Amino acid sequence: MAYLQVRDATKSFAGGTTALRGVSLDVRRGEFFTLLGPSGCGKTTLLRAIAGFNPLTSGTIAVDGIDLTSVPPHKRDIGMVFQDYAVFPHLSVFDNVAFGLKPRKVPPAEVARRVPEALEAVRLAALADRLPAAMSGGQQQRIGLARAMVINPRLLLMDEPLSNLDAKLRIELREEIRDIQQRVGIATIYVTHDQEEALAISDRICVMSNGHVEQVGTPEAIYGDPQTLFVARFVGTLNELERGPALADLLQRLDLGAADRDGVTWTIRPEDIRLVSSGAADTAALEGVVSKCTYLGREAHLHLRTPAGDLIVHVVNPSRVAVPAAGATVAVAVGREALMGFDGE
Ligand code: ADP
Ligand code: MG
Repeated sequence: MAYLQVRDATKSFAGGTTALRGVSLDVRRGEFFTLLGPSGCGKTTLLRAIAGFNPLTSGTIAVDGIDLTSVPPHKRDIGMVFQDYAVFPHLSVFDNVAFGLKPRKVPPAEVARRVPEALEAVRLAALADRLPAAMSGGQQQRIGLARAMVINPRLLLMDEPLSNLDAKLRIELREEIRDIQQRVGIATIYVTHDQEEALAISDRICVMSNGHVEQVGTPEAIYGDPQTLFVARFVGTLNELERGPALADLLQRLDLGAADRDGVTWTIRPEDIRLVSSGAADTAALEGVVSKCTYLGREAHLHLRTPAGDLIVHVVNPSRVAVPAAGATVAVAVGREALMGFDGE
C-alpha cells in the first residue's frame, strides 16, 4: 500500500473558486515526489490540505495507513518548508530550529541532541548561535528545512522553497535538498512550477493543471512519454506541426497516415529532429529555410520555416558540425517514434 494516499480530493473556496477537482495520488515510502504545474493549478492548496491547514471539501488523506483527513495540523507530524523562509529574525538559528519542538513537549536533553543533528544535516552547525537576519536566503531556507526535519516528521512538504533565490543558488540548494532527503530517507512532496527543477530532483512527478492530475510518472516518462498535450507542452520545448498538405504527406511517408484524424496535434521535440544532407532520399525529411540560428556553446538552436510550420531544431556540439546560417535552405528528418500525436489543440 502506498505511504501517502490522497483520494478524490476536492476543494472549493468560499468565493466559489474550485482549486482541486478530484485529485487522487499515491506517494511511496521514502519517495521524492513533486507537484509540478503552472501558477494557480492547485499545488499549494493540495499541499496545505495534506498538512491540515485547509480542510478538503471532500476526499480523504491517509499516511501510513492512518486516515488524517480530520486530524488537526499539529497532530499530523508533518514538516513543512515555505517559499518565504518564515524564520524568526529575533531568535538564534538554534532557537529557530528548536521552536518546532516546543508544542511537542520534548525534554530539554533531547532538544539539545536533536537540534544540532538537524543543523548538521543542513550544514549550519557552525552558525547555531547567530541571528538569521544577516544570513543569506539560501542559509535561511536551510534553517527552514532543519526546523521541518527536527520533529522527525512522517512526511516533509516543501512549497516552492527555492523560488526566492537566484538561479545559481537554486541549482546548488536543490542538489543539497535532494542529498539530504536521500540520506534521511523521508517521503517528501515538493512543489514547483519549474519543470527543469522537477526533472532534476524527483523520483516521480505529478503534473497538475486546473485542479486535476494530468500525469504521474518518473522524470523520464514525463519528458519522454507525455500522455497529454498539456504535459508535452509544459515540460520541455515542443514543436507543434501545422495541419496541411505537407504534414499529411510526411505522415503518409512515415506510415502514420492511419493514425491521423481531425483534432490530433502532431508534435516533436527539438532534439528529435536532425539535419540531413539535402537531396538524400529520406522518407522522413522536410525542407526548410533557416530564419534564425542561436549559438549557445554546447548546442545551437535553429529556427526553421517549413511547409509544416515553424520548427526549432537543437544541434548538439555545434562547433564540430556545420551549422547552416540564416537564409540557408536545409533538409531535416524526424524520427517516426519521436513524432507524438495528441488529441486536442
Ligand atoms: P498554485 O499553488 O498551484 O499556484 P493555489 O493552490 O495557490 O495554486 O491556487 C489554486 C486556485 O485556488 C487559484 O485559483 C487561487 O486563486 C485559488 N485560491 C487559493 N487559495 C485561496 C483562498 N484562500 N481563497 C480563495 N481562493 C483561493
Ligand atoms: Mg503555490
